[in-house]
Formats: sequence, C-alpha cells, structure tokens
Amino acid sequence: MRDATLTVHHPKVDDREFASLAPGVERASTIVFDSAAAYATRGQRDLDSYSYGMHGTPTQRVLEAQLTALEGGAKTVVLPSGQAAIAVVFLSVLKPGDHVLVAETAYPPVAGLCRNFLDTLGIVWSTYPPGTGAAIADHIRPETRLIWTESPGSTTMEIEDIPAIVKVAKAKGIYTGIDNTWATPLLFKPLAHGVDFSMQALTKYPGGHSDILMGSVSVSDPDLRKGLRDVMRMLGFHTAPDAISLVLRGLETMAVRLAHAGRVATDLAFAIDSAHPVEVLTPVLPDSPGHVLWKRDFIGASGLFSVVLPEAWESRLDAALDALEVFAIGASWGGTRSLIAPMSVAAHRVTSEPRNSRIILRLSIGLEDPKDLKADLDRFFGILAEA
Ligand SMILES: *Cc1c(COP(=O)(O)O)cnc(C)c1O
Repeated sequence: MRDATLTVHHPKVDDREFASLAPGVERASTIVFDSAAAYATRGQRDLDSYSYGMHGTPTQRVLEAQLTALEGGAKTVVLPSGQAAIAVVFLSVLKPGDHVLVAETAYPPVAGLCRNFLDTLGIVWSTYPPGTGAAIADHIRPETRLIWTESPGSTTMEIEDIPAIVKVAKAKGIYTGIDNTWATPLLFKPLAHGVDFSMQALTKYPGGHSDILMGSVSVSDPDLRKGLRDVMRMLGFHTAPDAISLVLRGLETMAVRLAHAGRVATDLAFAIDSAHPVEVLTPVLPDSPGHVLWKRDFIGASGLFSVVLPEAWESRLDAALDALEVFAIGASWGGTRSLIAPMSVAAHRVTSEPRNSRIILRLSIGLEDPKDLKADLDRFFGILAEA
C-alpha cells in the first residue's frame, strides 16, 4: 500500500496482554462490518450491540452496565444531559391526549418542557403538591399515563412517599418516574420500590467535578429501554465517549465523595439551624416534615441543602455573597467545590407556602476542609445579621 493509504489504515496490534483498570475511550461515528451480509442485517442487531456511533461504543456500554448494577435494574440509557434524560422518558411514554402528573417541586426546566413543548403536541400536564403520598389518587385523571416525582424536591427538599405513589400508580396501570439526582442510587434505589424510570443527572455526583453534563435512565423492564432508545434514535441523541470516560472516573470516587459531603452538609445544617434565625431545608433535621420518610427510605444524606433567610436579612444578601472566600456562587452542584446559589422558586410553585416567595439559598457541599467552610459561613451569616 502507498503512503496515503497507510496514513488512514491503523495497523492491528497485539493487545492480548493489555489489561488496564481504566475503561478505554472508544470513539466512533462509522462502525465497519466484516461482510456485506453483516452490513445488510445491521438493523437486527440487539440494543447492546453496535451499528453506528450514535447508539454507543463499548465505553458507553461500560457506563450503562455500571449504572444498571448500581440501580439494581435491567437496562440503562445514557443521555447528553439530565434534562435530556427527563425529556426522553416523557417522549417515550406520552402520546397526544395523554396526561402527565408532575411534582410541583420538580427541577424547574421540567415544567418548561411541559409548557413549551409537550403542550404543542397535545400532551396535557398538571402538578401535584409536595408530600402528596397516597392522595396522588386525587390528582390522577383517566388520561394520566405517567407520574413524575423528585425526592427531595428541587431547592425546597420535600420528601415524597414514593412507595405510596407507586402503589396507587401500579393499581391504575400508570408509569412512574423519578429524578433521583439528590440521592444517587447510593442513597436511594427507586427501582427496588417499583418505580419504572430511575433518572439521574450524572452532571452532579457521578461526574463530580463540575466539568461535564450527562444524564441516565435505568429501568427494570427491558421493553421500556427499547422505548427510550427509539426516541433517542429519532431525535439523534448522542453522548461523547470522552465525556463518558470522565463519568466513569468520577464514579470510582463517588461513594467516598458523597459520604464526605453528606456528613459535612449534615453537620453544617445542624450548626446553621441552631446558631441563626433561619429556616434550614433538609430532610436530615429531625423536625423536618420529610425526616421520617427519609429515615425509612434513604440510607444517608447527600451534600445539598437550603436555607431561607429572615426577610430583614435579604437586603444584605448580595454583600454577604460577595464576601465569600471558600464557597463559590453558582448553580449546578455535586462537584468538588462548595457552592451557594440564591434561588427563587415562586414562579414554579402552585401551593402557597410563605417561604416559596422568598429567596432560598441552596448550598452544595464540596471537598474543602470543613473548618474553612464553617469559617466562610460564619463570616457570611455575620454580614447578614449586622443590624
Ligand atoms: C441538574 C439537575 C438536572 C438536570 O441536569 P443537567 O445535566 O444539568 O441537564 C435535573 N434534575 C435535577 C434535580 C438537577 O439537579
């Protein structure tokens, strides 16, 4: 062969004794076939196989299998973001005329998806208030096909009674799905409670370093995986192997990071609760409305909780945020750096709960020395409390 040909033909090398602990990063658009017949029948390959880079490479299969094991499921799909994972669940089961019941406390862009996109397809949606439990039955319509939950709820941290919701849904043949990003499958396993779709934003704890976006959905029923993969194929969703390899690396340390963040967040939540006239929102506090259910269903705390300030402090909030030295100001979470994000949830809530119209500070605890975090927060609350 001549030089130009040699530049594009990668020689086969001996890899028999190559055994790395790190999964390979295998990139592909084209997949080649060893015969005309194999090419002609590529559409019959099963969903764990390979036919085009869009549908995954071995790098992606490793992550899918690892998440499946953690979730205790049968199959997992990987998507370019957490929001994409939610959208694909919705589109895989909802048809025009169907109704989806969404937790009022769901990640806010979910309402955006319903309002701006599903609405135009003739898919109807409504919300149910936090803490509904078995009373979810009162919100179900004859057309309800999917109940979408999130527990704890975004920013305000309400715990849902997932077993009670699943029981009602199953009796009526309605699918259930959960955004399990706060807990990850290390702290709560939705599929073990009968939830049909267990979704997480891998962007948060699994990625763990604030440098990638990704989502996943795990299911116990392989047919549901087929529905998800059909939508992904139609819409052309692809997740880059390079980003997947970062999640595979992040996963290796997730148990240690999450345990640390959960312990430090719990200590700080108790300390803030006892030292300041604020409302601390986390199921970890014994007097929290979700504490009993959280104790029953979850095996621990993650590193995310929220704080509602007294109204009189709000005018000094910007100055206090600007004075932070260890916490960074920013949304997203689950990385190595501790973050504070002032959130306002009023636009997304139907239920009239006084705190919903207030500024809610969401704290994500990272891996800094807890003493530095405590000192930063002491300074922060000191500025807020200045008369
Ligand atoms: C971040 C987040 C998402 C969305 O994940 P992206 O990867 O940023 O799209 C969904 N749900 C929850 C609870 C989140 O925190």
